[in-house]
Amino acid sequence: MSYPEALKDRIPMEQMRNGMTAYYPPCHYCGAPVRSLTYNPSLKYACVACREIAVAQARAEKEVDKRSAKEKKLSTAVKRISKVADITPYQKGIEYVQKHLDIPYWFSSTEEIMVALELIRRGVKAYHQVKIFDYRVDFLLPDLKVALEVDGRICHGKDKEKTQLMRDEVICYKLGPSWQVIHIDTENINTNVTHLLKAIRGVMAYRERKIRTQEFT
Ligand SMILES: [Zn+2]
Repeated sequence: MSYPEALKDRIPMEQMRNGMTAYYPPCHYCGAPVRSLTYNPSLKYACVACREIAVAQARAEKEVDKRSAKEKKLSTAVKRISKVADITPYQKGIEYVQKHLDIPYWFSSTEEIMVALELIRRGVKAYHQVKIFDYRVDFLLPDLKVALEVDGRICHGKDKEKTQLMRDEVICYKLGPSWQVIHIDTENINTNVTHLLKAIRGVMAYRERKIRTQEFT
């Protein structure tokens, strides 16, 4: 049903050798004729150049949205920390996070931002979102030899636990025998992020004791 509509809308047409009709509706953006083998009056036609501009614009808007979402998370992180600690020593970290908000995969949750701020305040060397094999580790702490994962409430299904164990094993294998993966619950981070390092060291000490006990028995 292209032809009658095109005729009605005075769309330029061209009869092709094979008997088909080519339509030239105007580009919605710049008015240049856009070649099409059908014509639908309810469609917006766009020439190649305008389509590229529209795609680039949509992409830029998405980036802006992403940034403002991350900015919101940063301000939530600052608010939560302010409830349990003096925010002044976190200033350097806040500036760092602000400067690096646009990096893909970085600072994707409020809790990740809180952990980053705490690590920076404590002067703990860390790498964020490190790709290891097929996985992405939230934080690598090379001085502690810890791969730190910030987890939401884990659904304690047996399959999920198995998958996570396998994932942790692969990460440890890739990093080396003295490394370990430590999971910190988002709830703990939100309650009091200043306890983060104590919690990490606690897990490390617990595992060491466990290994020693196993050696003696
Ligand atoms: Zn155009």
